[in-house]
Amino acid sequence: MTLHIELFTGEPELEFRKLGKVKVKVAAATNFSKTPTIEDVNFKLQEAASKLGATGVINIQYTRGISAMSWRALYAEGEAVVFESTDYPCPVCAEQIKKAAKKCRFCGAEL
Ligand SMILES: [Zn+2]
Repeated sequence: MTLHIELFTGEPELEFRKLGKVKVKVAAATNFSKTPTIEDVNFKLQEAASKLGATGVINIQYTRGISAMSWRALYAEGEAVVFESTDYPCPVCAEQIKKAAKKCRFCGAEL
């Protein structure tokens, strides 16, 4: 199953609404298990974000921890957000245009 949650390690140039912090951890179960990868922790991050109804996670930070309690654990935390579209369909030609536009760039209709 693929989750449509976009991940950013910084703050993207998009409009968004913050939902809250998400923090996840992936740890190798034993000394012999495979070391968790960024892909593993990203998947958990997307799962956690989708439960909040988010469409993205921004300002993600990864931390790798090695201790007796957590064998090769990988942590990720970020802010769950909902990206707000700045585009809408033109009422005349139905092409996606910017909310701030006064004239459609496709058909030239006054808005
Ligand atoms: Zn148009």
